[in-house]
Amino acid sequence: MPDLSAFSLAGKIAVVTGASRGIGAAIAAGLQDAGATVFGLSRSGTAPRGVSAMACDLADDTKITQAFDDIAKQHGRLDVLVNAAGISLPPSNAETELARFRTTLGTDLTGVYATILAAYPLLKTAGGSIINVTSINSVRGFPGNPGYVAAKAGLAGLTRALAADYAADGIRVNALAPGYVATEMTAKSFADPAMHEDRRRHTMLGRWGQPADMVGAAVFLASDASAYMTGQELFIDGGWTTKGLAISSDKQP
Ligand code: NAP
Repeated sequence: MPDLSAFSLAGKIAVVTGASRGIGAAIAAGLQDAGATVFGLSRSGTAPRGVSAMACDLADDTKITQAFDDIAKQHGRLDVLVNAAGISLPPSNAETELARFRTTLGTDLTGVYATILAAYPLLKTAGGSIINVTSINSVRGFPGNPGYVAAKAGLAGLTRALAADYAADGIRVNALAPGYVATEMTAKSFADPAMHEDRRRHTMLGRWGQPADMVGAAVFLASDASAYMTGQELFIDGGWTTKGLAISSDKQP
């Protein structure tokens, strides 16, 4: 029998940002099921049952510092930080294109780095694991949202940079890159038949992802089972980024 105890998160303290819904909520619940004590950060301050919800706007450095001060007082260390909070803004008549770009990078890249910096002293105490939720946008050129594509490519780069900087502290830094997953962020393309089918056909597995599809990889990256892995980006995308030619699953199911 293989020893699967390395996958357990029993006794570990974890923070998941963006835990109020979608991918972050699924990962927060999954880490808790695997045994961790989980804090979920979001602006709305809601989280799945059993996860301690904290209201925190990651575009506000002061709020981030306060959140990690609270966790420091309660536990004095942090084993796992999952940066799942993110935004993908539609073009707006009210905001200029540059303002949209800046707002997107503020949350999806600078907000993640601010969170990591605030968590770093606690992660160093534990020799923790950081998981940055990137996207297939980190390695592919998608149209219509350059800020999002740039932020995710930047986050993949930040993952490699911090893996190098924090290795001596025993902190591992990896990225989890989802393909198209049915959440509030993708609700419009999920509901539109042509867009839905287009995204389905880009995968090898012939379907959209669900938030639950992200949980196994998150538990693996959070746990000691991935102890010899850092600086990597793990694509959970139904085969989107490695697909070559059309295959049989492209046909309507
Ligand atoms: P979602 O359903 O829109 O959820 C986004 C989460 O981020 C919510 O919990 C939201 O909570 C939180 N959030 C947004 N701005 C925040 C801020 N300033 N401060 C704190 N929390 C904030 O999106 P999702 O699809 O689950 O996306 C989760 C992550 O996966 C994102 O990083 C996204 O870029 C990435 N991703 C998603 C897909 C996909 O197909 N869905 C694909 C690739 C990557 P509040 O609104 O309560 O603040």
